[in-house]
Amino acid sequence: MYAVAARNARDIAEGVNFARENNLRLVVKGGGHSYQGTSNAPDSLLIWTRHMHNITMHDAFVPQGCEQSMQPAPAVTFGAGTIGMQAYDAVTTKGGKYVQGGGCLTVCLAGLIQSGGFGSFSKHYGTAAGSLLEAEVVTADGQIRIANSCTNPDLLWALKGGGGGTFGVLSKLTVRLHDIPEFFVTVSFKIKAASDDAYRRLIREFVGFYRNNLLNDHWGEQAHVNPDNTLAIKMLSWGLNQKQATKIWRPFLDWVANAPSDYAQQERIVIGNIPARRYWDVQFWKEHWPEVVFPRNGNLWHALLDDILVEVMPEPALDFDDRPGAPPNNAVWKGDAGQVGWFLWGYESLWLPASLLEDDAQQSLADALFASSRYSRVELHFNKGLAGAPPDAIAAAKDTATNPAVLTAFALAIVGAAQGSAYPGIPGHEPSVEEGRQAAQRVGQCVDQLHAVAPNGGAYVSESNYFEKGFQQAYWGSNYPRLTEIKRKYDPDGLFVVHNGVGSEQWSADGFAKL
Ligand SMILES: Cc1cc2nc3c(=O)[nH]c(=O)nc-3n(C[C@H](O)[C@H](O)[C@H](O)COP(=O)(O)OP(=O)(O)OC[C@H]3O[C@@H](n4cnc5c(N)ncnc54)[C@H](O)[C@@H]3O)c2cc1C
Repeated sequence: MYAVAARNARDIAEGVNFARENNLRLVVKGGGHSYQGTSNAPDSLLIWTRHMHNITMHDAFVPQGCEQSMQPAPAVTFGAGTIGMQAYDAVTTKGGKYVQGGGCLTVCLAGLIQSGGFGSFSKHYGTAAGSLLEAEVVTADGQIRIANSCTNPDLLWALKGGGGGTFGVLSKLTVRLHDIPEFFVTVSFKIKAASDDAYRRLIREFVGFYRNNLLNDHWGEQAHVNPDNTLAIKMLSWGLNQKQATKIWRPFLDWVANAPSDYAQQERIVIGNIPARRYWDVQFWKEHWPEVVFPRNGNLWHALLDDILVEVMPEPALDFDDRPGAPPNNAVWKGDAGQVGWFLWGYESLWLPASLLEDDAQQSLADALFASSRYSRVELHFNKGLAGAPPDAIAAAKDTATNPAVLTAFALAIVGAAQGSAYPGIPGHEPSVEEGRQAAQRVGQCVDQLHAVAPNGGAYVSESNYFEKGFQQAYWGSNYPRLTEIKRKYDPDGLFVVHNGVGSEQWSADGFAKL
């Protein structure tokens, strides 16, 4: 009904106090990217942080009160409404450093970090929550508190993956900075199998190839196992160059090329260097599309290293905002732009443990992927599972509230179905309910096949089923009891309630009535 467009922690505290004193339903919104709509509620008072996007870089940051116990570290402080692109522009393009934000450029860091949060290179840098050093947060009593590992450490831990809109309203966050490599490398191609049997063998080969060559901190992003018997690779590497990446992929591409009657290439193979410092530089993407290598034609996989064409990418990977007067850095990856106005029909995620990559388990995993692909596309997001990550990234993620399943998973499997740009009441764009029901059923059947091999996987709080059964265990696993204690301590009366959030089981679905 009403919104507080907050500019600072005092504005937020006023809003929190007003809501508490008047017994109002309260919601908090940053970038508005909650798939589950947890930054919205009918008949509520909204605290909106999007205007709070000041950014300050620190060469040597020590959290308040930690002067005796922590070494200074490079860090950056963001206003809670800072979106990914604003952060990357300040930290990487201008500052030559790296901050763990999301893959999507318009996700707010506050929502992302409270989700745990992954970017394309999380297999190297760890989860976004793992890098949080300090937060300024307004709790339900209206107090503006500092949370770091010396002051309110329990609150800091809960904010690291315990879910947004639950423990208070963040006004500022300070996160650790990391170094960038010289290049990120993009690898993409798509292979179609001629028969179900050939497709089974392709998936099996890829599983073994992944285990032997890609299960390390260099490789993130996705492989898609599609119902039309195609395998699509859309991966990004950290810390390798084009030549090294090409060498790594060659045995797999050779294996495919050696069976021309079974496999056909559907799109060009692209392996391209992107200078890491320019990865989020909109001006760079407008002027210099990165150089990528292509084999000269579809039959020349054998010659990948010797006989290649070097060209610029066929089109930029970003969509630019061409509205008059739009800020120069307004841009989104094409894949994210496609989600605007989505009507989600079904959505599931599941962490796949690295034990499925053991020699004697690979066949079962491959069979499960094939079986699930009969119902819907399975996306394997390798950057959203930390098996293969460096020990420090795993240790940092272990000290967060995210389900510990993330630590030993090689990937997060995501299965979803949606109708693009659907709006009730707008002719030609009406949501298609019948199609949606059928698609939702297929999504469920698809993920059931994966549950059969990963029964205790758990799901990623921000990318999961709205109707997640046993969400407490799925999102937080063994961390849930500790989260409920912290919730009781900082928000005993449940001012902050979100769908399937910590403590929400005590409230009616609309968040108005205590059960
Ligand atoms: C197109 C798209 C791409 C995505 N890509 C990725 C990705 O690459 N990696 C990934 O890990 N996730 C991804 N996500 C999921 C996303 O990270 C989460 O949904 C995240 O919580 C969004 O944060 P937000 O502030 O933008 O959204 P909002 O909807 O504004 O907020 C999300 C939740 O956080 C709460 N919240 C927001 N700000 C505050 C605050 N200041 N204090 C307290 N609570 C707050 C809200 O109440 C809400 O519950 C994507 C989502 C979309 C829609």
